[in-house]
Amino acid sequence: MEMEMRSISDRDIGTDITPPLTPFSFSLHNTHLHTHCSSCFSLITPIIPTTNHSHSTFYCSPHCSTSHSPIHLSSAERHLPSSINSSLLRTALRLLLLHHTTSLFPRINHLLTNRLLLTCQNDDVNETIRLGAHAMATAIANHRGGGSGGFSEPYDNAVLEKSTDALCAVLTNAVEVHDNEGCAVGIAVFEPAFSWINHSCSPNACYRFSFSSSSLLSQESKFLIAPFTRNSQQPQIDCGVSGSSSEFAQGVLLLRFIFVNGKFQYEPQFVVFQECLQLRPITSSLIMEGWRICGPRLIVRSIKRIKKGEEVTVAYTDLLQPKALRQSELWSKYRFLCCCKRCTSLPFTYVDHALQEISVLYGDSSGLRTNYKFFRDMADRRLTDSIEDAISEYLSVGDSLSCCEKLEKILTEGLDEQLEENEEKSHYKFILHPLHHLSLNSYTTLASAYKVRACDLSSGDFEIDSNQSESKAFDLSRTSTAYFLLLASGVHHLFNSESSLIASVANFWVGAGESLLTLTKSSGWSSKFVNFDLVLSNIASDTKFECSKCSLMDRFRDSILNGKIKSEDFENVSNEFIHCVSDITHKVWNFLVYGCHFLKSCKDPISFSWLMSIKNSVDVGANDIKTDMCYTHEPENSIGVSDELAYTDHTVAHILQLGRHCLTYGGLLAFVCYGPNSHLVSHVQNILARENNFLFSL
Ligand SMILES: [Zn+2]
Ligand SMILES: [Zn+2]
Ligand SMILES: [Zn+2]
Repeated sequence: MEMEMRSISDRDIGTDITPPLTPFSFSLHNTHLHTHCSSCFSLITPIIPTTNHSHSTFYCSPHCSTSHSPIHLSSAERHLPSSINSSLLRTALRLLLLHHTTSLFPRINHLLTNRLLLTCQNDDVNETIRLGAHAMATAIANHRGGGSGGFSEPYDNAVLEKSTDALCAVLTNAVEVHDNEGCAVGIAVFEPAFSWINHSCSPNACYRFSFSSSSLLSQESKFLIAPFTRNSQQPQIDCGVSGSSSEFAQGVLLLRFIFVNGKFQYEPQFVVFQECLQLRPITSSLIMEGWRICGPRLIVRSIKRIKKGEEVTVAYTDLLQPKALRQSELWSKYRFLCCCKRCTSLPFTYVDHALQEISVLYGDSSGLRTNYKFFRDMADRRLTDSIEDAISEYLSVGDSLSCCEKLEKILTEGLDEQLEENEEKSHYKFILHPLHHLSLNSYTTLASAYKVRACDLSSGDFEIDSNQSESKAFDLSRTSTAYFLLLASGVHHLFNSESSLIASVANFWVGAGESLLTLTKSSGWSSKFVNFDLVLSNIASDTKFECSKCSLMDRFRDSILNGKIKSEDFENVSNEFIHCVSDITHKVWNFLVYGCHFLKSCKDPISFSWLMSIKNSVDVGANDIKTDMCYTHEPENSIGVSDELAYTDHTVAHILQLGRHCLTYGGLLAFVCYGPNSHLVSHVQNILARENNFLFSL
């Protein structure tokens, strides 16, 4: 049966539509077992030194230890051979344990699985499941037999069957749990209220995690979504039904914890379409002494306006990928072909166009007509390989200089190819669109690589003149800042036509804002232009905490205070923001991109109007390949960017203003998708408070 979740009422953007949900089962990845609490997933400080017990568990508090240890000890996971012991198998074993303990349902806690689809092909996935289920069944047999793990107890087929079921349920339903810094620390399988939410590449909701070990489930938050069977017109709910074998068809029994008389109790509840929740009487056999009140919580939040009865969707994959990559990832992980609005749009949506556009610049005309698609695919493959190679080499070897050179060469010069066609050799040049997903990945890497180079230079004990190295470090951090800004504004440009990119764009604006503000405080200013006192006095005279031209700062404060923002207000303030930011960027962009060939070719990073020029693009005469997105890098000497370093006495003040705008707007977006108490919003508030103090001290 295919399920979906629908909204039970009209909802504006930025509303929590579920209470904090607890996971059925979860596990840290092996790489995080020694840094994070195995129960609540919060960071353990100080970090426990790695021991020989490579898969042991650590806890942040006695509470976490008592609530989670029983699961760890009784799920048989200690009997998994260490070569195959993974978060996936631990999660599956723990899920099986919960299922076994509650034994309420014929199916594993009402989770849908793709077992048939996952195991029907002779591929890697099937092999993973086969080996995993065998290891699980052996571990369970050893656990029951009290074996020390020295030999393998035989297991019966029923155990293998259940292990396979549990493993498939985890593969289908688990989500990556990201910590506050965005790092994937483990996986978790949540109750059906979340697991039944379907994927869309243009979703109207997103989710966040909460890691606090102590916070109780709020009694006030409600479910604002209810389950439907796919394609049915009526809600599958009848309020008057008591729990019987027909409960699944007539209503949805959701297992939830509630806090009664100082104890957590595990309680089945009916979700009904109108009233949202109707509590069932507590069944004493379900009281579980609170041992499962652990694990990261998950909260679903609306990022678009949602109408009553509309399906609620989230993203199972990175939305900044072009259609083909999204589709192949969804197929290999979940075995479905996405038929969402964005995927079925023909011609492709603007965003999907931009994310995969490769322009062809050429010296010789005729050839491409016949084999255009073949050559384009080939160019796509080679460009993908070279960029991915450069990035992965950087991540493994850490040579930031070589990485910057390689990536910028590809971005600026593209791919030069001698192609043989119709027995003639022709010369072609393929260039990535500046908003191609590979370009965006490159900006992220470049921003960080330039930053690393700047840090290395200012902290290193080089034998060169300190003023010279300070000046060089300043240049590098300025280029890093320009890449952060280009990344944020580029993704914002896509966000204008695809509002579900909000979470990405929030993070990028915060990153750009931080980088700009850090640049204003660099001591490198004095090594370069003027004395730092003059810079500070400019800041003091030019900059007030509030911007006189927009209401962004007020709106951010109000939203956090009231806990909500109306979509109209959000749209208005977004327009004001872009207006201000565009204005300030014009004054400082030439300064920021000074010395960087690639960045100089991006003339206006806010409006992106320069992308639309059709000059030099291949007119191959076929409608399906000609787009309005072709662009070219113009020769540097003709693009109107002066070679002089365009610095004025007010540059620092402008950069400070720009940074505060980017940061505050990023904070507002973070409020919409993660809520007022989220890590990112507090992070932004802290930096703004520090900035405010800094300004008052001048
Ligand atoms: Zn903990
Ligand atoms: Zn899709
Ligand atoms: Zn403003």
